[in-house]
Amino acid sequence: MFTGIVEGLGTVRSLTRQSGGMRMGIQPRMTGSLLVYHRRLDPDARRYAVLEVSIGDGARFVFRDVRRLGTIQLLDAASWSTYERGIGPEPLARQFTAERLAECLSGSRQAIKKVLMDQRRLAGIGNIYAQEALFRARLDPSRPADQLSPADVQRLYDAVREVLHASIRRRGTTVRDYRTGTGGTGSFQRSLEVYGRAGEPCTRCGSTLAETHAIDRRTTTFCWRCQGTPADQ
Ligand SMILES: [Zn+2]
Repeated sequence: MFTGIVEGLGTVRSLTRQSGGMRMGIQPRMTGSLLVYHRRLDPDARRYAVLEVSIGDGARFVFRDVRRLGTIQLLDAASWSTYERGIGPEPLARQFTAERLAECLSGSRQAIKKVLMDQRRLAGIGNIYAQEALFRARLDPSRPADQLSPADVQRLYDAVREVLHASIRRRGTTVRDYRTGTGGTGSFQRSLEVYGRAGEPCTRCGSTLAETHAIDRRTTTFCWRCQGTPADQ
């Protein structure tokens, strides 16, 4: 229940519990973690805890948020319904298909990286996983989403799911503050192929990885040879 990608909204639904007709929605955002402790909280855990709930058998559920970027909402049934409708599908859901991804991307001329990170279109993909998936799919992150061919979408679909599954297997990506559900660090950061690697060699072709801020004003690292431009592919 508490393993998942705590980068976007992907984990929010699974952590939401009905209580007295109200539901709680937590958006951990960039530096928030949702943790379960079966021991006393150490000073570090307590220092950044913004929510602490007893969940029985001596266990404590803690929302730890280092930079206080996360949000907690208590929602009644109507608000919950509106809230849930505003979140795109889970890419790891069994019923999520490449065709469904194509629908999520359709009608947008924005850069594919931006569209992937738009939680209203697709849940749970942030800056790290968008870059990693686009590299695996050999897609230019700046390419307009509506220009992807069915073959491009299929590669992207496979890449998104591979990256998320691989990260969950390695208990997430701890670049700075992220902690797993039991307070440890993830290890997917050791498997990152582009994120944070600008200037280093591409793992596939050896070219020096480039970076741009032109897509969404955040750093995007990519291989100009493997991901290129649409005309090069
Ligand atoms: Zn390359």
